[in-house]
Amino acid sequence: MTRTFLGIPATAPAGVGHLRGEESFPVAARRALGDAQLRRNLGHATTTIRAKSAGVIAEVPDWQALRAAGSAIKTDVLARLPELLEQLEARVTAAGGVVHWAADANEANAIVVDLVRATGSDRVIKVKSMVTQEIGLNEALEAAGIAPVETDLAELIVQLGEDRPSHILVPAIHRNRAEIREIFLRAMPGVDPGLTDEPVVLAAAARRFLRQTFLSTSVAVSGANFAVAQTGTLAVVESEGNGRMCLTLPQTLITVMGVEKVVPTWRDLEVFLQLLPRASTGERMNPYTSMWTGVTPGDGPQAFHLVLLDNGRSAVLADEVGRQALHCIRCSACLNVCPVYERTGGHAYGSVYPGPIGAVLSPQLTGVADNASLPYASSLCGACYDACPVKINIPELLVHLRDQVPHPRGESAAMAAAAYAMDHPALYAAAQRAARLSRLTGRRGRGLPPPLSGWTASRDLPEAPAETFRQWWAKR
Ligand code: SF4
Repeated sequence: MTRTFLGIPATAPAGVGHLRGEESFPVAARRALGDAQLRRNLGHATTTIRAKSAGVIAEVPDWQALRAAGSAIKTDVLARLPELLEQLEARVTAAGGVVHWAADANEANAIVVDLVRATGSDRVIKVKSMVTQEIGLNEALEAAGIAPVETDLAELIVQLGEDRPSHILVPAIHRNRAEIREIFLRAMPGVDPGLTDEPVVLAAAARRFLRQTFLSTSVAVSGANFAVAQTGTLAVVESEGNGRMCLTLPQTLITVMGVEKVVPTWRDLEVFLQLLPRASTGERMNPYTSMWTGVTPGDGPQAFHLVLLDNGRSAVLADEVGRQALHCIRCSACLNVCPVYERTGGHAYGSVYPGPIGAVLSPQLTGVADNASLPYASSLCGACYDACPVKINIPELLVHLRDQVPHPRGESAAMAAAAYAMDHPALYAAAQRAARLSRLTGRRGRGLPPPLSGWTASRDLPEAPAETFRQWWAKR
């Protein structure tokens, strides 16, 4: 058997999609921290979801065993990803679907634009999907004269507000109802000018607008939460039913899916359908779990296309430690428990993937140098690891990625000097004496001098002990 060597896997290309911010995390986070309304909204929302989730997780006696099973299934999937993807392709094709392979965001966008153009439609309805935001599909469609309409209520609020999502599950978590009313009045076609900010009134306005759009649009675009290789079945889970309208009403359905979303069998899917709702929305099961296999004559979309997207995932897979980030099922539990996310919100991360998982996934998809501040957007408290339903060790990943961040020359030189001193006992003893001297000369409490001052800008400089270990040891 001959093998084709494809070289080092590519990271997600720059200039397309939403994986890179325009400013570093500390700069963006500082601005977010000054927004009292944002912090109130975030604090309220994350506290509510956390409590709800903890309650329903406590009901499951074998929750830890389920987590272990989810983790083991994902490890198995990544170990034989090519085989499972080929099986998925064969099953989807046999069921009447068409499978497309996209190496990156540019290829995926071009495939979807061509497919929509071929239908003659100038509008698509969209199911809430992280991956289409990752690749900037809406911008690509608009550039081609095709109008994308988000149908998830929160995504619709974000789209009409010309805003960016700030949470994986609750994209408009940073908006309160007065702001939503103002957005609807400004941007929703045909909205009642007497609209109030009552949640039920806002939901009814969105429903009227969306029903009209569902009934007059022939193409839908979705992501996928899971794909079962065994039968070629795709699955989307959601809470509103708007996703199901998109998946069943149009003539053509185009699904864009990250390659890591495949699971081997229905037995495996069963594990994730138990883990996901309890960890994400704090529900016992998803209100709407839609599944479809290819095309069924006379029922639902009569053309189905599946776009399998890499966009840096092969590069993540190539890293033995980093690859566990591909286990993520996008439940957002790690966001809801993260003390950093709770205070800064999602926009500060600059990527469509915010919070702890964003801090480890985005830099890996783009290459660490392009998102160098994100691995530091954490206190390493470990709450994300405890909350993750598939046991991704996010703190371990953060430390792993910090090691790959290009460090300033001064810091690298200081570390090299420290390593040299530790390798030479006499020099090390002299350095310890110098440290004690700094204690006597009053450096204490003032931080280190440049170029090391960055390190002590947010940390206390530990006081050098009056006696070193070596001196203590020598006395005995
Ligand atoms: S890393 Fe874990 S907790 Fe965070 S979104 Fe992914 S699956 Fe959920």
